[in-house]
Amino acid sequence: MIITNDLVEAFLKCPTKCFLQSCGEVGTGNAYATWVRTRNKVFRIEGTKRLVAGVAPDRCVIGTPAMGSPKSSQWHLGVDFAVQSQNLRCSCHAVEQIPSAGRGRTAQFVPIRFVSRNKLHRDDKLLLALDARVLSEVLRRGVSLGKIMYGENYATLKVKTSALATDVRKLTDKIGTLLASPSPPDLVLNRHCGECEFESRCRQKAIEKDDLSLLAGMTEKERTNFNSKGVFTITQLSHTVTRRTDAGGHLQAAPGLNHTGRWA
Ligand code: SF4
Repeated sequence: MIITNDLVEAFLKCPTKCFLQSCGEVGTGNAYATWVRTRNKVFRIEGTKRLVAGVAPDRCVIGTPAMGSPKSSQWHLGVDFAVQSQNLRCSCHAVEQIPSAGRGRTAQFVPIRFVSRNKLHRDDKLLLALDARVLSEVLRRGVSLGKIMYGENYATLKVKTSALATDVRKLTDKIGTLLASPSPPDLVLNRHCGECEFESRCRQKAIEKDDLSLLAGMTEKERTNFNSKGVFTITQLSHTVTRRTDAGGHLQAAPGLNHTGRWA
């Protein structure tokens, strides 16, 4: 199974999403997910234009140039730069080639990613580090630095991708194990569901299972704690709670429940 950067991005949001995408399952759609995808696409197109404008036309390549050819050292900017090494495939948004600084020195390659949000997350850096890893394996040279262009002002953050190499390796190992499994991981509704194309499918399955993750106010730690005690469904949970009423017959708050008897 080829692990693409889209699958890694999905895994960072939710293992179930990664598994479903790897099986080619198509979600029923989600207006918010479509809006986010469009916003990212527009941001990337505009960012690419800005990068291209800063490079002489004959120093810019679209797509992946043949490595090792006499002309391979002549480009300074590659956009939509796809690379594959063994079972890892990345579609780098852009790659900058910094010519060698003198005899005996090699050119430096710097992957660039576009992120439309004003605030970056660790996942953005991990995805950049994945680009750097695959690029490094294909070029057979170290790629220790990458850049993220982000936010409404297209600010640039330099990221030391070599510092994330171990995390990226662990991540791709986990994804490899997940994709080798014949069955999907346990379904757990999470914060990303609201912007996921599989939202209707997963919510329906969670309702059928009466799954604890339907209780949005319950933290992962609390759910894991209940699971370790053999409590997996809302019905089972309700049996563990002693409901008390006050003198007026009103339901009193019990640990973890609010005054309406629902999980707080
Ligand atoms: S809807 Fe939620 S649980 Fe289902 S794949 Fe998407 S993020 Fe994961």
